[in-house]
Amino acid sequence: TASRSREQRQTGPVDVFGHAPSCEEVMQHFADLCRQLDIDPKDFRNFYTQLKEKLNYWKAKALWSKLDKRASHADYQQGKACTKNKCLVLGAGPCGLRVAIELALLGAQVVVLEKRESFSRNNVLHLWPYTICDLRGLGAKKFYGKFCSGSLDHISIRQLQLILLKVSLLLGVEVNTGVEFQGLIEPSGENGWMAKLQPRSHPASAFQFDVFISAGGGRFVPDGFKHKELRGKLAIGITANFVNGNTAAEAQVAEISGVARIYNQKFFQELLTETGIDLENIVYYKDDTHYFVMTAKKKSLLKKGVIKQDYSDAEQLLAPENVDHEALCHYAHDAAHFSTGGKLSDLEFAQNHANQPDVAMFDFTCMHRAENASLVRERRGRKLLMGLVGDCLVEPFWPLGTGIARGFMAAFDTAWMVRSWGMGVPHFKVLAERESIYQLLSQTTPENTSKNYAAYSINPKTRYQSVNLSSIQPHQVSTVILLFPFLFVDSVSGFEELLKWCQKHTSGYEDVNIKDFTQSWRSGLALCALIHHFRPKLIDMASLDKSNIVHNNQLAFSVLEKELGIPPVMSPSDLANSEHIDRLSMVLYLTQVRSAFSVPTK
Ligand code: FAD
Repeated sequence: TASRSREQRQTGPVDVFGHAPSCEEVMQHFADLCRQLDIDPKDFRNFYTQLKEKLNYWKAKALWSKLDKRASHADYQQGKACTKNKCLVLGAGPCGLRVAIELALLGAQVVVLEKRESFSRNNVLHLWPYTICDLRGLGAKKFYGKFCSGSLDHISIRQLQLILLKVSLLLGVEVNTGVEFQGLIEPSGENGWMAKLQPRSHPASAFQFDVFISAGGGRFVPDGFKHKELRGKLAIGITANFVNGNTAAEAQVAEISGVARIYNQKFFQELLTETGIDLENIVYYKDDTHYFVMTAKKKSLLKKGVIKQDYSDAEQLLAPENVDHEALCHYAHDAAHFSTGGKLSDLEFAQNHANQPDVAMFDFTCMHRAENASLVRERRGRKLLMGLVGDCLVEPFWPLGTGIARGFMAAFDTAWMVRSWGMGVPHFKVLAERESIYQLLSQTTPENTSKNYAAYSINPKTRYQSVNLSSIQPHQVSTVILLFPFLFVDSVSGFEELLKWCQKHTSGYEDVNIKDFTQSWRSGLALCALIHHFRPKLIDMASLDKSNIVHNNQLAFSVLEKELGIPPVMSPSDLANSEHIDRLSMVLYLTQVRSAFSVPTK
């Protein structure tokens, strides 16, 4: 009895935390756990180690051994690859939490912001085999016993978020719920990059960071990123969740992992004849709920009174005032009833976050995709690395279940980018590599990615079958960064400041007279003079000939690249030919030169 009660004392808090069924309870039990064990969660660097020391009974140990195995991967360099980095992650959806875990394993300080206070999405996600393997490796089964048992390859969004939230907290990630991100605040005075939050006085608003990852879902794209729109033919999706009583009869009903019209004409014809419901496809997963997702034809929605009036514009067509909610409930119910052969006899709607029947209709005619996955902003000498992951990077096409699979891929790729950043790789190279990898994302399928799931890591080479990390060259990403000062900063004064700085540090040099960002740089002497001013030993000004334009430019470019890590943004002949001097590229280049020379030499 004594040993059992000792065991209970020890297992109590972590088990309660591990099995907490809602976001609110996870946060509450986590706080209790920290209090009981007297460990400060703000001490993120030592938190996990202290937790392990204090909770060393067999059940906890089984979880630690999983997490230790992951953490011991060489990529993380024993959690030291990013010890200097501070990362802000926007969104505690599956992808935000997944990237937060990787950043914590790399040794970074990680703060997550989530505007919701609870995880209420019943919708069920299809998981590709590698994601199942990945989640098992993080101890998913210890938190959610039913995780992908047997041949199950799906999970509700809510459960997935709960698993990832628990892992994040154990690894020292600071997760703040009920906090909305409203924008970035540029560095000023002593302060670095910070975030504007709602509520304003939230302690996380004092957090200063050098990495910002947006995982805000859907179409949430921070300033500076652009989206491309891929428009298909009108596609109206309907999701519906019904209560799963987990009875023996319910267990017997077969799932429908994707019946598309082209494969089963007879089924859809019978559905139409018997119910008047006309669908392109339907999926049914038995999970926490009975989850149905289908693509419905507009004509039948109009005929059944679900959509009140026909409009050619999809937004107007599906506007709440144009949808009869009760008719929508009937439509979804009848489709679910018919497609399961009436075996789910007592279909009762589960409730959504607003305590309403969990049925929704959405338009997925347009799919969005970000043009870039990464950016660097620089202000007052402070750089901020920005990345997108999850749905806000590439909106998934749900019938293919790409949301989590590609979302996690992007989370790993982003962690790899932050690793390079943390290890001091020049930012042009970091961005070029990230964009090279991003090019592959939309084509990834379970077939063309490595089958060696156990070997998957944040290193892209372990996952993509053939990846060229330099398919995009540093000079091709220059415009990405270039746009920045002009999008956010008072551009005119920014330009003038830079021009004055160049003039000041080249005054007195023969044949150098800087008046602009184009012509004045043509001979290459101005660039050489700048270098000479700060590092006289690197260039012998007396040896230069003002008519040997290509040579002068080549010399300046290679010195700047070799000595200061600044890759050229154009070729020496482009610079030699004044018509080809791109003003913005030159401003960017000189901005970097100025930053590099502003750092005191050791
Ligand atoms: P989200 O899950 O959307 O999370 C974003 C988070 O950011 C949210 O919690 C939000 O509250 C928070 N947030 C947003 N703005 C702010 C802000 N300003 N401040 C603070 N927090 C903010 N995927 C699959 O893999 N398989 C499927 O079968 C599948 N089926 C789907 C069916 C439907 C009908 C739909 C709509 C999607 C489906 N998906 C599926 C896609 C899947 O839901 C998403 O891919 C997944 O949830 C993406 O995760 P995410 O973290 O990128 O974004």
